[in-house]
Amino acid sequence: MRPRLRVLCTEHLFTGNLKLQIQSVRGRVCVVDKSGMTNSEMRIGVDLGGTKIEALALDKAGRELVRHRVDTPRDDYDATIAAIAGLVRHLEQETGQTGTVGAGIPGCISRVTGLVKNANSVWLNGKPLDRDLCVALEREVRVANDANCLAISEATDGAAAGKRVVFGVILGTGCGGGVAINGHVHDGPNGVGGEWGHNPLPWARPEELPGPECYCGRRGCLEKWISGTGVAWDHRQMTGREQTTREIMMAYEVGDSDAVATVDRFEDRLARGLAHVINMLDPDVLVFGGGLSKAEYLYRNLPGRLPQYVFGGEMATPILPARYGDSSGVRGAAWLWPDE
Ligand SMILES: [Zn+2]
Repeated sequence: MRPRLRVLCTEHLFTGNLKLQIQSVRGRVCVVDKSGMTNSEMRIGVDLGGTKIEALALDKAGRELVRHRVDTPRDDYDATIAAIAGLVRHLEQETGQTGTVGAGIPGCISRVTGLVKNANSVWLNGKPLDRDLCVALEREVRVANDANCLAISEATDGAAAGKRVVFGVILGTGCGGGVAINGHVHDGPNGVGGEWGHNPLPWARPEELPGPECYCGRRGCLEKWISGTGVAWDHRQMTGREQTTREIMMAYEVGDSDAVATVDRFEDRLARGLAHVINMLDPDVLVFGGGLSKAEYLYRNLPGRLPQYVFGGEMATPILPARYGDSSGVRGAAWLWPDE
């Protein structure tokens, strides 16, 4: 029997001659009356980050038409909605076209409540972001986790183009993961598909327990070990030296023994985390984005480290840097409207 959809709210929005009926169904906002939809030749993607909001417009073939960014109005939800709407209007004025709109956020929309959860940009949590964007832009706006957007971008026309199951990893300030299957987001009923950063570090050694405290309320989350902040924290614990991740990576390149030891621990922990992903999902490809993904040696070293942890002792999964680098999130947001 098909589950009955629970309509959380229905509202009408009158704007000029347009009437939009907007429903929030099991946490997904949809425009019931499609009269507010626009031609879909142009796709607009928005990447809502903790410090910047970036938006771009892609043409039908995925070529970038124009892009803009503004500072994120931190701690001000209404101003965040207004900033996103302003960016979209700006792109549409410049191109003379209207487009579909997708947005990547650090968190996800709960299917239970229809509200944002798990965002480290905490002023978004508890807000009906997709619904408010829908009202502000007078059309359906698709919202997904930023790591899912990375996976979609790379699966659509990036490093993982044509691959069926793609696991995207953001190794940045934090650590996120996302899954794309046949070019579509796989988020699941809890909206947390791919959120490996808040699993515990696998095969933890005695000196790694109980692990650092995480903002999620637990200890020893992977994110606390294999993110930029995690690497700097680990380096400080082991050497007593306060260095940024960038400084540690530069010291590694010239053979500094402390930095070499820190990178060795980082790679080993990353391999342990990825082995769990492979044992669970066995994706066709792993794609890395985020600041740490720019370290070329990762792609040389990880394939040799993984077999000791993957069940069966084999590792044939390609590990690739994101083709679109830092732009992959915003492109993936645009591709939340795939060719149907
Ligand atoms: Zn956590």
